[in-house]
Amino acid sequence: TLSSSSAASDVYKRQDLTELKDAIIQNISHEVRTPITFIKGYVELIAEGGMGPINTEQRHSLEIVSHKADEVVHIVNEITSLQPLTHESTGYTPVLVKPLLQEAANVFRRRIAGTNISLHLHPIETDLTIYGDLEKIKQLCYNILDNAVKFSPNGGNIWLGAKIEAKHIHLTFTDQGIGIPENRASQIFDTFYQIDGAASRRFGGLGLGLAVVRRIVEAHRGKIWVESELHKGSTFHVLLPQYIPQQQRSIE
Ligand code: ADP
Repeated sequence: TLSSSSAASDVYKRQDLTELKDAIIQNISHEVRTPITFIKGYVELIAEGGMGPINTEQRHSLEIVSHKADEVVHIVNEITSLQPLTHESTGYTPVLVKPLLQEAANVFRRRIAGTNISLHLHPIETDLTIYGDLEKIKQLCYNILDNAVKFSPNGGNIWLGAKIEAKHIHLTFTDQGIGIPENRASQIFDTFYQIDGAASRRFGGLGLGLAVVRRIVEAHRGKIWVESELHKGSTFHVLLPQYIPQQQRSIE
């Protein structure tokens, strides 16, 4: 029918756009890295007095330049972590969920120390295990938690949870933050997408965190979605494959 074919072409356009963004990202990242390496090299050389004596004030200025160059490198690294991930089950290992979330909670509790945002873990069964890439799964948790903290109000609570669901581990990340309008709930996973330009500038960020998260989820053939109520909060749901030991698999 007419409506279904136009829906299909919308999907294609979005796919093309994603590929175009990927190509631009990869080119820019490459082009930016090379000159930054030179900038760092020369700045360090000058700072060490390798091109003649410099005074304290000059050294201080060079430290700032060097620090800013590091920031650019950090942004570029964040951008390149967007490069398409493939389904590489060879690098996959059993990942115990409880220690994973406990570690993430500890990292973020240190980060929110001094604010009155609190982070809680729902009770998690000890043997819950994901089959996947540990580093990527950590990154996924950290990116979602980064937002949870960023968009939490004073006194806000954040909860982490995990349970088994149809051969998957269902992770939840709940906050009491500003919420996400229903019609933006799928766009937030797009590259460089931020709901409110002005608000996002206030909060900082590149609009990349969730794009990275979505790719990690897709590489694991999982699922991600968000449930949210404006000004009340959001829950990010992630399904990742459950690790099923060989023995158990052959019994089934
Ligand atoms: P960034 O946070 O760097 O802007 P993300 O890709 O992580 O980029 O998020 C994209 C956008 O989705 C954010 O700018 C924000 O508008 C919205 N968003 C993400 N997480 C939340 C959240 N927990 N609560 C409210 N809005 C959120």
